[in-house]
Amino acid sequence: MNKKGHVALAVASGTLVVFALPSLSSISNIMPAVLLIAGAAVGGLVPDLDHKTGTISQLIQFSAARRKLLKTLSLFSLLVGVFLIACGKWFDGPVDRSIEWLISSAPLWIGTGIICGLAAKLRVLILSGVGILLLLAYGIYDWHWVAAVAGCSFLIVPIVKHRGIIHTPEFAALLTYGLYLFATQLPDMLQGLIHGFIVGWWAHLLGDCFGREGIQSLIIPKVKIALKLFVNGGSTERWITRFCWSASFFLWIVLFISRSNIFTQVSLFQ
Ligand SMILES: [Zn+2]
Repeated sequence: MNKKGHVALAVASGTLVVFALPSLSSISNIMPAVLLIAGAAVGGLVPDLDHKTGTISQLIQFSAARRKLLKTLSLFSLLVGVFLIACGKWFDGPVDRSIEWLISSAPLWIGTGIICGLAAKLRVLILSGVGILLLLAYGIYDWHWVAAVAGCSFLIVPIVKHRGIIHTPEFAALLTYGLYLFATQLPDMLQGLIHGFIVGWWAHLLGDCFGREGIQSLIIPKVKIALKLFVNGGSTERWITRFCWSASFFLWIVLFISRSNIFTQVSLFQ
């Protein structure tokens, strides 16, 4: 399933949860419901962070063409820098002032090469940085253990394969348990966001089950669910996406009307 399908399925799943739990959507305060659905939309996209060229990954890295250019610039600058350092060692005696100036610029070339190389790997840098910060928050500031799980996940995401460990039901179960416990320490508003994120995450896995690649178990890798019902981004997926959005809108209207009636009845009674 592609990003449009995942978002539609996650929003529909979040809407169903809101529909099933009336306490989440009173007409006087719709924010918990809105946050739950927003959390579901985010949760429906995040698992594909393990896809090197997925939608979320593209937000935190340069385009393929620019990455290629940055790598070339990096290699060129490093080679020039190393060459100039070698020249500095080679020219032992007094040299022309312009050559001396050129040789002294070697650290600048090396620095440019390192910066371009790092920029080409921006996604890895950001994911690793977030992972390290979360691990530090857990270790130093005594954050909830789910921060350590998330930290380790961010660190391994650049090196694991797409639809690998991050897409396994076991990882989803661990994340669900950790986030659920963490949410109990938060105000109601944020709880809705976290619960929505969990719903969106599972909706993402459900969406991937429909496709050819499917998802597989972490503990028993031979256990794999790949229903092969449609091709990624194909017409069937587009129909499912439309159906999910239509169902969500329908449920939102039903929710609004039903809650409005309750509100009117309560007002009349008062
Ligand atoms: Zn996926």
